[in-house]
Amino acid sequence: MHTLSFRVVLIIIIGIFACYSFVGAEEQEGPLYQVRAGDTLYSIAQQFGGSVESLQKLNGIENSSLLSIGQILLLPGYVDVSGLVDTYLVRPGESFVSLQFELNNSLSTLIKLNRIVNPYTLYLGQPLIYKIPENLETSNQGNFSVVGQQDTLLDMAINADCSPYELMLVNGWSDIRLPVPGELIYLPGTQTMTPIPDPFVDVIITDKHPNQGHPVMISIVTDPQTSVDGIFGTTTLNFTSIGERQISLFGVHAMSDPGIYPLSVTAERNDGQRITLEMRLPVADAQYQSQRIVLVPDKAKLLEDKDVRAVEDEIISNSVSVFTDHKLWEDVFTPPISMDYITTRFGMRRSYNGSEYLTFHGGVDFGAPEGTPIYTPASGVVVMSKNLNIRGTTTIIDHGIGVYTGYWHQKESAVSVGQKLGNGELIGYVGSTGLSTGPHLHWEVWINGIQVDPLEWIKQEIN
Ligand SMILES: [Zn+2]
Repeated sequence: MHTLSFRVVLIIIIGIFACYSFVGAEEQEGPLYQVRAGDTLYSIAQQFGGSVESLQKLNGIENSSLLSIGQILLLPGYVDVSGLVDTYLVRPGESFVSLQFELNNSLSTLIKLNRIVNPYTLYLGQPLIYKIPENLETSNQGNFSVVGQQDTLLDMAINADCSPYELMLVNGWSDIRLPVPGELIYLPGTQTMTPIPDPFVDVIITDKHPNQGHPVMISIVTDPQTSVDGIFGTTTLNFTSIGERQISLFGVHAMSDPGIYPLSVTAERNDGQRITLEMRLPVADAQYQSQRIVLVPDKAKLLEDKDVRAVEDEIISNSVSVFTDHKLWEDVFTPPISMDYITTRFGMRRSYNGSEYLTFHGGVDFGAPEGTPIYTPASGVVVMSKNLNIRGTTTIIDHGIGVYTGYWHQKESAVSVGQKLGNGELIGYVGSTGLSTGPHLHWEVWINGIQVDPLEWIKQEIN
């Protein structure tokens, strides 16, 4: 009896060891990465996880600077994944449903490779590790469609020239269920794959990882006769047609917390059906500096008077929140006076007379001598020209499609409300009116009701 149980235990122990060595051998098979020009062990470790040391150890590399192009490296830290891998950056409209087909990887492979906990948390530009398919011919076939109110599984199968069962299989449905209206479904076929459903044809986002305080443009092409709307975070987006594209500009608030924000665009077809692309936009910390400002008592009093400040802030925000649905300018914006005069940049967190850092610098300061002329950065229409307690002699110009520029603390204004201005025309002169500690121009750029960094805005070409 004792001998028998000893033998059983021994067999079990041998079995366990055999399993261990089997798993161990499998671990050594992959995943693999083929070194490209410009790669370093550090960049590979950043791209796929792990450390330089673990890569060195696993691949027996003694000198970390000796990598050759085409060299195959074993990547540490994965179990049960073999073959060559690479990274892919998530584009607008893509989800795990579409990526399975685009990358020809199963959902379980993508989840394993990317250590995904929640497959609904993809964000734009997210690097995803995927297995390079061995048989490329089977990928990139078929397209995506959004299930309509009246669509049945059979209708869709007939349209896609396949059986309902095949449709269920390729979409990873484990049991028979009805397609849900609005759901994205993959239809196998011979057409080239596009990750976005009709009526979307193309979606471009200029900055897929914007900093706080930066401007972003979404540019969309849809089938004709389609209207588009959208939301970023809690802000409604306004779209304008420019040629065949529908574009929307928005700003990321300078004080918004870094993190991932929802971004969705909806196209409304002629028949009234609305198709929404849900995306997630990661916002990065702009690393704005902090500044302590000490104000003399009478100026501090003005800033502390919350009523004066609130009334004035409301005047400004009302005037920059009106959406003019056509673009009034050409080319890119130019600075209103020489960049050599810049003294304070946008975004600085500010504390006044020892208070907390609750406000930020909403524009760029140009410390130019009193009387220096200020010129329009682009053409537009004057929507405000008045004297305010804090901002002093103030001008605001509407450039269309949600873009406004503001000029504070002027000595004198040279324009009046309703006046149309071309590019490079005189607005006024640098002064120190309002709450100002010396002659300077404070210049602001507002996009869709949000102040953005003017020096970022002047890099943007919108056409
Ligand atoms: Zn300023």
